[in-house]
Amino acid sequence: MGPRPSEFEIIDRYFSWALPSKWHTQGIGDDCALVDIGATRVAVTTDTTAIGTHYLPDADPLTVGYKALAVNLSDLAAAGAAPRAFFLALSLPSSNAEWLDAFSRGLHEAATQFSCPLLGGDTTKTVMVNGEAAAATITITAIGEVCRGLTRGGAQAGDDVWVSGTPGDAYAALMLRTGTWQGLCDSYLASRMDKPTPRVALGQFLEPIASAAADISDGLIQDLGHILSRSGLGAEINAGAIAVSESLAKFPQEKRLKAQLAGGDDYELIFTAPKSVRNDIEAFARQAGLVLSRIGQTKKEMGLTLTDADGRIIHETWSGFDHFKSDN
Ligand code: ADP
Ligand code: MG
Repeated sequence: MGPRPSEFEIIDRYFSWALPSKWHTQGIGDDCALVDIGATRVAVTTDTTAIGTHYLPDADPLTVGYKALAVNLSDLAAAGAAPRAFFLALSLPSSNAEWLDAFSRGLHEAATQFSCPLLGGDTTKTVMVNGEAAAATITITAIGEVCRGLTRGGAQAGDDVWVSGTPGDAYAALMLRTGTWQGLCDSYLASRMDKPTPRVALGQFLEPIASAAADISDGLIQDLGHILSRSGLGAEINAGAIAVSESLAKFPQEKRLKAQLAGGDDYELIFTAPKSVRNDIEAFARQAGLVLSRIGQTKKEMGLTLTDADGRIIHETWSGFDHFKSDN
């Protein structure tokens, strides 16, 4: 058997094709592709939710439906886009009315909450192959509208680095539910894992003033790393400045830091912005009732310096999520 490329090697090696120069788009490597159609710029993203990988097999189908759309809306938020429509490709091993009823209600709830109608899709049956269980996958493509659009590139040296919400909560819920951490998964942590809030209004607010943005699907450090590498910069980050929820604060520092810095599935926004808009960002946070933490700044020299609340350097190098990492 040949070597097994990681998730990002697969994308880089096999699918990062050169674009014809007439195609004015930010292509692969951002949360959304930005495509100019006439005078309109649209942001397009597609994300798959798979049983076993993205949700536990016994997950409530209502939350599976909600989250399947929420994670796509989160990519639109990272591009600063206003959601306009989505398409749903459903591949299921069997047709189960009870499951479908709850799934569709969850999906509809997110679609209504974020004004993003379902315009089409595809429905197929998956079958068992070589005795392996048939997969269930939900693939959504979402389309939004932007003026300029935010990407992971564009950060300037000396920009502030910000993060929304309290990252780490969804990871803590997963650790507790799978028994990796001891303790009870409280209803707050459970809701952060099951029904993440795409930061759609924040994204649209940031679109004209931020320099770069990404959503945190694979861990704060890894997703910040995408911003830094695409912007050709380094950063100094104070992990002690990241807002922490009451529920996560109950866990020992080491667990908490790992959840905040490397835990995926939060769908918060990490973004950079010039110092000149600090007050505007703080005013938005107050008015929206959303915690926005200023956690550091970008620098010309490459590399990431991480410190804790006491200013001590954190040497731990957690890696974020990669779908094919364990195959290596
Ligand atoms: P996100 O987590 O924001 O959805 P990913 O980390 O999944 O983004 O993907 C990184 C980039 O690679 C994105 O721009 C995505 O569109 C692109 N990408 C992922 N898989 C493929 C593929 N099979 N073919 C082409 N582009 C891909
Ligand atoms: Mg993303």
